[in-house]
Amino acid sequence: MRTQTPSSTELERLDRIYREGGLKNMATPHVHYGDARCPHEGCSRRFEWIDFKLELYGEPAGAYQPLVKAWWNGAGFVGRRPDCDGWILFTTLGMKPLDDEAAALHAVLPENWHQVAQIA
Ligand SMILES: [Zn+2]
Repeated sequence: MRTQTPSSTELERLDRIYREGGLKNMATPHVHYGDARCPHEGCSRRFEWIDFKLELYGEPAGAYQPLVKAWWNGAGFVGRRPDCDGWILFTTLGMKPLDDEAAALHAVLPENWHQVAQIA
């Protein structure tokens, strides 16, 4: 038997289907990252499973809905790293390091996101 790693186009297709379902339900985002290392160089922190617990921020129109939409439409959202001042862009496909300027273009998690979220 042959095992096959799905190609990146296949992964993107599956991701799109997954996100369409999530957006329809406005489901609360949680994620498992295969590559769980903090995307910032030289950092040993890991974010393997994250349940962002966005519902705990309350006020659906102000915080919850824009973040949930950004997650499911594929843009993702940014959070300040708990271990230093850098930003991480979280999407359904992975994490990316961002500087302040790039982070300003995205939906932003509240400052205490890493205390509210369950991270394993
Ligand atoms: Zn880090």
